[in-house]
Amino acid sequence: MRIVLSGTAASRGMALGRARLVKPSKLNVDNRPLEDDEVEAEIERLHDAIETARAELVELREKLHGALARDVGEFIDAHSLLLEDPELVHGLDDMIRKGHYRASAALKMQADRLGKVFEAMDDPYLRSRREDIDQVIGRVMSVLSRQTSQEERKLAARVGEILIADTIAPGDMAHLAGHGLLGIVAAGGSVYSHSAILARSLNLPMLVATSDALGTISDEDLVLVDAEAGEVVIHPTAQDLTRYRNWQREAAREGRRLAALAKEPTRTRDNVDIRLFANAEQSPDVAQARALGASGIGLYRTEFLFLRSKGLPSEDEQFHAYRDLVLGMGGLPCTIRTLDLGADKADNAGIALREEENPALGVRGVRLSLRHPAVFASQLRAILRAASYGPIRILVPMITTPDELGAVRSLLQICANDLRDAGHTLSELPEVGAMVEVPAAAIGIHTLLEDADFFAIGTNDLAQYVLAADRNNDALGTLYDPLQPALLRLIARVISVGRRAGKPVSLCGEMAGDPLLTPLLLALGLTDFSMHPGQMLEVRDRIGQLERARLRKLSPQLLRARSSQEVAALLDSFNPDLKLQ
Ligand code: PEP
Ligand code: MG
Repeated sequence: MRIVLSGTAASRGMALGRARLVKPSKLNVDNRPLEDDEVEAEIERLHDAIETARAELVELREKLHGALARDVGEFIDAHSLLLEDPELVHGLDDMIRKGHYRASAALKMQADRLGKVFEAMDDPYLRSRREDIDQVIGRVMSVLSRQTSQEERKLAARVGEILIADTIAPGDMAHLAGHGLLGIVAAGGSVYSHSAILARSLNLPMLVATSDALGTISDEDLVLVDAEAGEVVIHPTAQDLTRYRNWQREAAREGRRLAALAKEPTRTRDNVDIRLFANAEQSPDVAQARALGASGIGLYRTEFLFLRSKGLPSEDEQFHAYRDLVLGMGGLPCTIRTLDLGADKADNAGIALREEENPALGVRGVRLSLRHPAVFASQLRAILRAASYGPIRILVPMITTPDELGAVRSLLQICANDLRDAGHTLSELPEVGAMVEVPAAAIGIHTLLEDADFFAIGTNDLAQYVLAADRNNDALGTLYDPLQPALLRLIARVISVGRRAGKPVSLCGEMAGDPLLTPLLLALGLTDFSMHPGQMLEVRDRIGQLERARLRKLSPQLLRARSSQEVAALLDSFNPDLKLQ
C-alpha cells in the first residue's frame, strides 16, 4: 500500500531506490551497574573505544580525495576535536567511577545532557550542532557494542539504495555518495546541519525531520524520495513512477545543458576571458555557484543572518556561516559584504533606525555599522576568523567618502590585534573594497583609490541615487532604467579609473545578470560580472556570441547618447538579434 511521509527538503531533487535502514546505535545501552572491581577496566574500555573512533575518523579522512576531502575534511576534524573535548569526554570517567555506570550508559546520559543544552538554544544553527554530538557519541557507542561490523556491512554497498537513518555524519555521507547512494531520508536532523550542506553540494536529494521514517519504512522497501515536494513515498504507484521519470528526463536535459556550459570557460567570440562571479545569500546559492563554474563569490549579502534571527547573530554564528561559504567555494575567492541594513532592509534586532524621514538617504550600510562599533566588530572578527579557511575579501556597502573606508580599516586592524592576542592564528588581513553605489563614490572614484583594494559597482542603488528614482516605486515607470546615459557614464568612469590604477572592478547589481545587457556592459569595458548563479549560464552563453573589440568601439557613442531610447537603438543596430525595449 502506498504511504506518504512528509519531511523537510534539505537538498532538492528526486531519487528512487531500495530502502536501507540504519538504526541509531544508541539502542545498545547496557544499564546494569558495574561491580567495584569492574570500574577501572570499564574506563579503559571507554578510552580504547574513543581512540578507535578517532582512528576511524582519521582513516575516513585519508580515504577522501579532491573536492570531497576539502568539503568534508573540516567536518571530520570537528568531530575528532569533539572526541578530545573535556566537557564531553572527561565527565564520563567520573560517571563510571562514582556512579558505576557502564560506558554505554554514561555516554547516553552525557549525550542526553548535552542534547538538552543545545536544544534550549534559540539559535537554529547552534541548535542543529546537537547532531554532531549525537554522531560522535554514536560512533564511540558502535565501537563499544561491537556492532561496527554489522553496521559497516550496511554502510558498505550502496548502489541503488536510499539511506533511512536517524541522522548521518558528513564523513559517512561522503563515503556513501562515492559508493552509489541515491538519497537520504533522516528522521531527525535539520537543514542547517553539515550533512545537509554537504548533501546539497553533492546533489544528493535529502529529507530531514521525517519523523516516522524509521518506524514506517522497512529494509528493501521501494521508496521514492521527492525532495521537490518534501515527501517520501513508500511503495510508489505507477503514477508516482511516471512523475519520477518525467522529472528525471527534465533533470537530465537540464543537466546536460548545464554540464556542457558549466565546464566551458567564459570567453567572448574574439577570445577575451571574462570572469563570472556569483551573488549569494545562502548555501544553496554557493553550491550552485560552484557547480556552474563561478570564478568565486562576488557579493555575499550578510543581511540574511540578521534578518532571520530574533536578536543579533553571535560572532560564532556568523563565523560558521562565513566559514561554510569559504569551504563551499573550495579555494575560490569569496567577497563578503558587511552589513547593509537600513532603508528597505529593516532588521529584527532593532539596530536599524525606524523613524527616518528619508531612509534611503539615511543611516544605512556602513553608516549604520559605524554607529554600532560593537556589532560591526563582531562581524569583522567573524570574517577574520573565517579567512583562515580560504580567500576572503571584505566589501563595504554605501561608501560615500574615503574616511569611511579608513574607519573600517582601523576597526579591522583592532579586531585582528584582539584576535591575535586571544591566541587566534590569522592569515594576512583580507583585502577591503568599496561598493560603488552612491553617486559621490562614482564621481569621486579617484579619491577612493588609496583606501580601496577593489570596487564593486552596485547599480541597483547607483541607478536610484543618480536618477533620484526609488528602486521600489513602480509609479516612476521607465525612469528607473539601467540604460539611462548618466548611469552608463558613471559605470564607464569607475571601470576605467579602476583599471588604470590596477584595482579590480566588478558589477554586482541586477544588470550584470541580464543577458540583454551583456553587450552593453562589455562595451563599457566590464570584465568581472557578479550575478545570481541561476543567471550565469545564460550570460556565459551570450558572452560567447559577442565580440568585445567591436563592442568597445561602440562605447563613445553609447556615452554620448541623449536618452535610454538612443542607447537601446545603438545596441539594436550593433546586434540586430537583440531586442532591448
Ligand atoms: C546594488 O545596490 O546594486 C547591490 C548589489 O546591492 P543591494 O541590491 O543589496 O542593495
Ligand atoms: Mg546596494
